[in-house]
Amino acid sequence: MSEELRVLCCFCGKDSTFHNSIEITIQCDKNTDEVQAVYAHAKCLNKVLHRSVPRGFEFKT
Ligand SMILES: [Zn+2]
Repeated sequence: MSEELRVLCCFCGKDSTFHNSIEITIQCDKNTDEVQAVYAHAKCLNKVLHRSVPRGFEFKT
C-alpha cells in the first residue's frame, strides 16, 4: 500500500498531501540549526506573500 502522507496547510488549516504541499522551514535562532517545518498549499502561500516577493513555485489561482 502507498498511503500518501497527509499534512495540514498552515494558512487555511485544510488537508493536503506531503507531495502536493510546499514545505516552509522557520529558523528563528540562526545560531542553532533548529528549524520548524510547516506545510502549505501553493495557492495559500501565494495569497499571503506580498506581490513584490518573487515566486519560486507553481500555483493555481
Ligand atoms: Zn491552504
